[in-house]
Amino acid sequence: MPGAFLSPNYDARPAPVDTLILHYTGMQSAQAAIDRLCDPAAKVSSHYVVDEDGTVHSLVPENLRAWHAGISFWRGRRTLNDVSIGLEIVNPGHAWGYRPFPAAQIDAVTTLCHAILARHDIPARNIVAHSDVAPDRKQDPGELFPWQALAAAGIGLWPAVPDAGTGDSDWTAFAVRSALETIGYDVSDASEAGLATLLLAFQRHWRPEGITGRADFGTVGRLEALLRLIDEPKADEAGLV
Ligand SMILES: [Zn+2]
Repeated sequence: MPGAFLSPNYDARPAPVDTLILHYTGMQSAQAAIDRLCDPAAKVSSHYVVDEDGTVHSLVPENLRAWHAGISFWRGRRTLNDVSIGLEIVNPGHAWGYRPFPAAQIDAVTTLCHAILARHDIPARNIVAHSDVAPDRKQDPGELFPWQALAAAGIGLWPAVPDAGTGDSDWTAFAVRSALETIGYDVSDASEAGLATLLLAFQRHWRPEGITGRADFGTVGRLEALLRLIDEPKADEAGLV
């Protein structure tokens, strides 16, 4: 039923959209995921589901709040469902046989994201993974998701520096936590384990070559490069246009 919205799991949106959150479904089939996202008893949903063959299912209208992010935090705000559009990308996920996302699926995700970005004012740094906004609970869409290719297509940020390997850097925990906070992560858990959890989330998005949970050379290189992208004033803000 093209054009129909399938899920009853939504309510009123309390604030304008300024964030885009990507997920994988993490279930054994696309249909199982759609059934769950449309089940009133499950109380979960997303705005879209993108199947592996590129089919896009519309579950909830963008002007309404879908229930995809749960307990979440990004750049000082909680409850990201209020302000975000959620895309569920079909993949069995780490629990059921995580596998590469097919090209047809990524093409469909790219087209859909372009359309969403044309409709809403969403800064590139607010295009994030579910694991970025809920790092202690979630791993999706995970390290196989082609964030670099999406950034090359104008969707999100990519810190374009070569991976510098897994040797230990000399960054202090304070410096690492500060960088992660500037990017948007919730750094309120100051424990060593809490920092490792955040580093895993950062790596799944921006350093997929090494999911180490440590502030190794490659990770701090990407952290620095991402901070530079965030710090660069836009041309109009700098009065250049
Ligand atoms: Zn998710």
